[in-house]
Amino acid sequence: MLSTEDQAYFKALLIGQLEELQRMADGTVSELRQFSAQCADPIDRSALDADRSFTLRIRDRESRLIRKIKAALRRIEDGEFGECEMCGEDINLARLRARPVTTFCIRCKTKLESREKIVSGF
Ligand SMILES: [Zn+2]
Repeated sequence: MLSTEDQAYFKALLIGQLEELQRMADGTVSELRQFSAQCADPIDRSALDADRSFTLRIRDRESRLIRKIKAALRRIEDGEFGECEMCGEDINLARLRARPVTTFCIRCKTKLESREKIVSGF
């Protein structure tokens, strides 16, 4: 279980990241709109499409991260933040600082990753 200070620290950290991401996501949307308005020329269409799918891929990753951050903030409220979802043990603080949205301790994460590697190897 995290101390109150640690919880406050991670809450501020996560909220900061969330705000940053949302600002970036807003920027992407207005950029996309600007881009569509500029490129009415059919020759530029394919470049535009490639660019747009790239942008959408980034947006997709952004929105997934936003969901993870929101879930982490919810876990702070519920007092579950910093606990491993698999084994229930405390996640190492250094690991949490490096990656506050993580829900697995390093041991379980390593286990999961090696299983993923085996599965994707087939
Ligand atoms: Zn674990």
